[in-house]
Amino acid sequence: MASGALAGKTIHELRALIAQGAISPADLLDDLLARIERINPSVHAYLDIDPERLRQEAEAQLRAAPRGGRLYGIPVTIKDNICVRGEETSCASRILQGFRPPYDATVIERLRREGALILPRANMDEFAFGSSTENSAFGPTRNPRAKDLDRVPGGSSGGSAAAVAADLAIAALGSDTGGSIRQPASFCGIVGLKPTYGRVSRYGLVAFASSLDQIGPLTKDAEDAAILLSVIAGQDPRDSTSAPVEVPDYVAWLKASPKGLTIGIPALPGAEGLSQDVRAAVDQALEAFRSLGVKTVPVELSHIDKAIATYYIIATAEASSNLARYDGVQYGFRAADGAGRSLLDTYLDTRSQGFGAEAKRRILLGTYVLSQGYYDAYYLKGMRVRTLIKRDFDEAFTRCDAIVMPTAPTPAFRLGEKLSDPLEMYLSDIYTISANLAGVPALSVPCGASPDGLPIGMQLLAAPFREEVLFRMAHAYEQARRG
Ligand code: GLN
Repeated sequence: MASGALAGKTIHELRALIAQGAISPADLLDDLLARIERINPSVHAYLDIDPERLRQEAEAQLRAAPRGGRLYGIPVTIKDNICVRGEETSCASRILQGFRPPYDATVIERLRREGALILPRANMDEFAFGSSTENSAFGPTRNPRAKDLDRVPGGSSGGSAAAVAADLAIAALGSDTGGSIRQPASFCGIVGLKPTYGRVSRYGLVAFASSLDQIGPLTKDAEDAAILLSVIAGQDPRDSTSAPVEVPDYVAWLKASPKGLTIGIPALPGAEGLSQDVRAAVDQALEAFRSLGVKTVPVELSHIDKAIATYYIIATAEASSNLARYDGVQYGFRAADGAGRSLLDTYLDTRSQGFGAEAKRRILLGTYVLSQGYYDAYYLKGMRVRTLIKRDFDEAFTRCDAIVMPTAPTPAFRLGEKLSDPLEMYLSDIYTISANLAGVPALSVPCGASPDGLPIGMQLLAAPFREEVLFRMAHAYEQARRG
């Protein structure tokens, strides 16, 4: 087989090939590592690739992997904010450079239990702050689908998305606080799922905004997302916000026809920033759903135009308190102590030198909205609007099974295009963040391309713990598109 031919396959295709004995996990690993070595220097989806060390690591994992596991021999790429025992986990920040967690995140444990090979470390925006992966302290990732590699892959899970899109990963895990799985999935032309809040354990995920964060899969199709979610989902005693809700057989649900289901179509805020190409692609997808026997009804999400303001208050408030622990004492980087420097100086120097500009901006904003005198005006008000947004979704899901809207208002933008204007960057999250505020699951699926070939994604949202509805619809849509 040609080099890279295995790296381009899906989990379900590779599982079948391995089960038939047509290929071995070692063949797959060789193929993938060779491709990473060749392509990663231009895409920069992975941080610090040392192929020899990765190979040795992966081979050791393979020897320990249970043969009957659902992911036996399948490499899964991991975003740099999910703890992998003994592996550097830096959140693409200088302040955590050199930090090696002494334990595995629950999702990593669950992947290993099924025989997966853990492949660290996908690039990201520092601490998951961003929508372009340009905020990585170690250089940006480039969108492999863009000619000349001049576009961003989206963010913050841009390394994970670019790796899957460039066949440098079979599948990946990312994290989504306000769109960080779905928006890069749509920019790179792949599938990405933010599960229901509480569906997947956050134990071992470096916290950004604890009431919004979820780990989820980035994959080549809906079936792979269903496979990965079945492995990582479920209650975990080490995360008290993980829910005691049974995990359905998501893969079995893929085969159920979506006929008879209802899609809700909301009026979209920010219509002036929505590109014609994106609008047309989503309209066409809705037509495809109608021909599959899905009904469509209008629904009202009357408060989602407040989602960006609400999110950037709540998320920064939580981030500022979560980031207070990085003081140079317990983790990673510490600024040099000179003569006459006090403990306070060490804290200040470490944080000034260790955090990048966007992290500092978030800490300042978050500290401000939580401070005495402003707490009621900002944080408390934000929490109230969050409840209204959640109610809009509750109400809408009494009338439909899923809601469809664009994942992002435009296809991938150019590197540097929004970097100097943080507000512009924040506005590109307009369609993704309400799912985090409401805690509902949302899946981004490719639904077309712009005239210059840039992928476009649509987003399907469902009621809490109804991920199977999303998989069922996305799978039927993919089959219909393939024809
Ligand atoms: N782009 C959003 C932000 O900058 C979302 C990031 C995320 O989901 N981690 O906060």
